[in-house]
This record gives sequence, structure tokens and C-alpha cells, in this order.
Amino acid sequence: MPETAPSAVRARQHDFQTDDQRLLAMREKVDAGERLNAKDALDLYRSPDILAVGWLANLVRERLHGDRTYFNVNRHINPTNVCVAACRLCAFGRKKDAPGAYTMALDEAFETAASGYSEAVTEFHIVGGLHPDLPLQYFLDLISGLKSRFPQVHLKAFTMVEIAYLARRAKLSNEETLRRFKQAGLDSLPGGGAEIFADRVRHIICDHKIDGDEWLETARMAHKMGLRSNATMLYGHVENDEDRADHLLKLRALQDETGGFQTFIPLAFHPDNTALRHLPRTTGMLDIRNVAVSRLVLDNFPHVKAYWQMLTPKIAQIALRFGADDIDGTVIEEKIYHDAGATTPQGMRRQELMRLICEAGREPVERDTLYRPVLREEATFSVSV
Ligand code: SF4
Repeated sequence: MPETAPSAVRARQHDFQTDDQRLLAMREKVDAGERLNAKDALDLYRSPDILAVGWLANLVRERLHGDRTYFNVNRHINPTNVCVAACRLCAFGRKKDAPGAYTMALDEAFETAASGYSEAVTEFHIVGGLHPDLPLQYFLDLISGLKSRFPQVHLKAFTMVEIAYLARRAKLSNEETLRRFKQAGLDSLPGGGAEIFADRVRHIICDHKIDGDEWLETARMAHKMGLRSNATMLYGHVENDEDRADHLLKLRALQDETGGFQTFIPLAFHPDNTALRHLPRTTGMLDIRNVAVSRLVLDNFPHVKAYWQMLTPKIAQIALRFGADDIDGTVIEEKIYHDAGATTPQGMRRQELMRLICEAGREPVERDTLYRPVLREEATFSVSV
């Protein structure tokens, strides 16, 4: 592992320099630990000085985490890609009888889970389509079946959108549905389906999903019953700077109230094979800027993740100097972004993730889903609490 200087020393070594007067004023706020406002968020998105924006984000990142950079050994399970929603942003969902549509029988899902277990995974990340026929009981049995077979593995499952859809089909409230999942063994929720909260954008990219208010309300309920979650923002399609700033501020306000969000994950839109395939892919600069702005605006989120599957490992490495303190996990078998043309590998070995982090001059820390350090011996692990 490379030697790294203490963060205070490094901050002095690289003085803050910018011609952008707005950033000079913002540095004073960041130094004083003062909250940035909506105008600051817009200024960060619009500043031509991306290095100075990154410097500020890195200051906050190092204040919170020093060089520590988190990753986990996880496995994605997508039980079905059959979906009634047909979001324009999506290349994953299929109609029931469309080529490539699949739905795992429960035993198949358990086998899929077990095929990553030899890696001693600490987390199953489970999301899928909005299936027109699968009942709530299938998903409850999936969770309880995984919990009984793999009691040590954290189950992070179902976006707020899936929870609301399953609740409607079962004629239950979102709250009752969450409660039943918790009883079945659900440990936390991922952050997907948030996309961009603004109605104007949602109508274009994901018209049939719950609106932003219901997403936030469902997250609020989950947090209040002790289930933690992540939060995402999908950028690089038809949203503008105001939409992104509004999205971040709504998440920050909810986090002030519940404290239930763990990690914010800015997600780069991948247009291939979607109904928005005419849009260009995001650029490295846009990716880096979204990591940095979110680190600065979301002052109450403990973690910002550079999700290597979407950003590419190379951009994710750079993002570790622009505000990100987490690079996600081994994943093992990613489907959703690969259907949308992602050219990254579908999984990565633990050693390779550690190499990426070390070469960015950071210190790799394997974590479980709740950010407790994982100590490994051979292929077993224990969680230090
Ligand atoms: S984004 Fe999700 S809800 Fe929308 S079509 Fe794809 S799988 Fe279905």
C-alpha cells in the first residue's frame, strides 16, 4: 500500500487557487463548515474551474474520511427483468413475452445467490422490474429464503419504486409493505428509482414511476422503521442544473429529518438501447463534477460513492480525489447498465478493487453494508462492531 501524507499536510501542499470569485466565497463557507445554499449549488455546477470545485470537495472528503476508501464484496441479484413501466431511460426492463425476458424461480434465485457465496460476499443487492403477475409473497419468500440460507449476508433490496408497486398490487400501504419485508429479513434498501425528482423530467424519462414526493415519503417511512437506505440521482439526460440542485436539496432536507441515508450515488445515464439513445453519453468532466457537487451540497450524507460500473474504473479512481470515498463492490454480475451499453466488466475481484484504490493514493477499507470494517481470513469474514 503506498505511503500517503496525513490529510492536513496534503491540503497545505496544494493551495486553493481560482479566478472564480464565487468559489473563493464558497471556500470560506466550506472552511467554516457552513451549509451551502441553492445558489451555491448552481454556481458549483456552472463554474468553469472544475479543479477548484474538486479541491473543495476533496477537503470535505478528507475531513470526513481521511484517505479511507470503502468497498464491499457484494453480489447483484436481479430476480426478473419483466416490467410494466417501459421507462424511456431503461434498457433493462422487458415486456413479459419479449425476447430476453426472464423471471427466476425462487430456487434459481437462491442458486444465483449461492454462486457468489464462495467469494464470501457480505451483501446481496437485489432489484428488478415491476412484474405484472408476481405476487408480494414471491418477494417475501425470496427475502426470507435468502436470510435463512445466508444468515450472515446483508439483504439490501428493492427500490422505493418497487416497494410502492408491490404495495399497490397487494392493496397494502407502502408502510405495511415495508414492515412485512422487514419481518421477512430485509436489512436495508438501495437508492435507485430516485432518478431526478422534478416532475418535468420524470414525465420524460420515467412517466410510470411514482413521483418524487412518493419516493421521498417511502424513504422517510423506511428510515423511521429503522431501515437505512441509499439515494441516487441519474444525470446526463434531459435534466438541467436547477433540476440537479433541487434533487440534492430535497435529499438533504429529508436527511436532516431522518438521518437514514448512508450513501449518495450519482449515476451517469447510459443511453444505449434505451428510448433516449439519441442522447450523448456523459463526459468525464460531467461525471467528476456531479461527484464533487454532491459531496459539497450533501453535507449531512456520510458517504458519496463513485460507482465504478457506471463511471468506469478509471473515472471512479479520479473521483476518489473529487469527493468520493466509496467505489462500490465486486458486484459479480451486473445486468442493468450492461443492457444499456456499459463497457465495464460485469464484476471485479476484491484484489483488483484494492489496487485501483491504492493507485489513487487512498487506503482501501473493506466494509459491510453498514460501513463496519470487514476482517478477512482466507475466504471467511467477521464484522467488527
Ligand atoms: S427503470 Fe425500472 S421501472 Fe423503469 S422500465 Fe426499467 S426496470 Fe421498469
